[in-house]
Amino acid sequence: MLDRLLRSWGGERLVVRRDEPTGAWILIAIHSSVLGPAAGGTRMKPYPHLDAALEDVLRLSQGMTYKFAAPGLPFGGAKAVLVVPTELEPEDRPGLLSRYGQMIADLDGAFLTGPDVGTSPHDMDVIAETAGARVFCRTPEAGGAGDPGPYTALGVFVAIEAACAELGIAVAGSRVVVQGAGDVGGPLIERLREAGAAVVFSELDASLIDRYRDRGGVAFIAPEEALAEDCDVLAPCALGGVLNETTIPRLRCRAVVGSANNQLAMPADGERLRERGILYAPDFVANVGGAMAMPGIEALGWTPQHATATVREYVGRTLREIFVMSAAEGITTDAAARRIAEAHLAEQA
Ligand code: NAD
Repeated sequence: MLDRLLRSWGGERLVVRRDEPTGAWILIAIHSSVLGPAAGGTRMKPYPHLDAALEDVLRLSQGMTYKFAAPGLPFGGAKAVLVVPTELEPEDRPGLLSRYGQMIADLDGAFLTGPDVGTSPHDMDVIAETAGARVFCRTPEAGGAGDPGPYTALGVFVAIEAACAELGIAVAGSRVVVQGAGDVGGPLIERLREAGAAVVFSELDASLIDRYRDRGGVAFIAPEEALAEDCDVLAPCALGGVLNETTIPRLRCRAVVGSANNQLAMPADGERLRERGILYAPDFVANVGGAMAMPGIEALGWTPQHATATVREYVGRTLREIFVMSAAEGITTDAAARRIAEAHLAEQA
């Protein structure tokens, strides 16, 4: 398993540590530092077994390399996963985060991080106490730029606009199913509603269901029905792997445009979507908003206005380019997006 995973990963460095006081495992995967210091979010959740966490961190780190390389940003790709016990006590959390921060400090600038599923800007404040300036998205009170979700939602919204244009329809009047109403899905629902789309969403968390259900015409759908709901655009904004050989035949959408990382369970699923005539916006292009805006604001001196304009311009232009390349060359949109990223990596290699 390890042999197969590491060989197909093709990354640079994997750091694994068991955190004795909590029983958590800390995995840091540095996939590429060709374009700059490797950056990627910190995911914190229980996993059924360590193999699944390892597979996740390796694939996610690879995705980050492509995410930064496609726009030519000066960062490499990495990811961290903190595999926590289901019964992790809240009072044990700061200690774990601070020991993890020390690991980041020991990597001496080779790994930069921010929040991901299961971590927040408040967690980044704690990690930064030991890791220092290698942590993005601390709270504004702690000198950071805060939650990346709204910028990611902006990018996904622009990607939906581009996909709708490709389908020959407007966002206003289109029907969009949003899977997951969290940090990204929530603001995305708001943007779509304001733009005049008919929005349907699914969610597992009762408080989020209450927050968005029936608000300005937004409708709720049971999670098990979301993927097969008839719509123009399906927006996966929960977890990865949702597009696979079981789900793709059941889809009743014309396009898939969402924030979840690694939406395709495997590259062949891009081909499956193409065969079904479903337009796919590659995840690492559609969901770059936060990863582009936050380091831009915190490390490259961008204003929020410049970050907004940059995310809008990049996502819209790149998706149009990808759709044209995919049609002209008879390749999947995912393959077209990878070509753009690989060209930037090859220039620096
Ligand atoms: P989040 O945890 O805040 O929200 C995800 C939501 O999905 C949760 O509210 C959860 O209850 C819900 N959910 C989980 N399984 C579900 C299911 N089967 N059906 C319906 N809802 C379900 O996470 P987020 O920050 O909003 O990120 C969402 C996805 O986008 C993740 O895959 C993340 O890696 C990716 N992403 C996020 C960002 C960002 O800026 N936050 C950036 C890039 C990619």
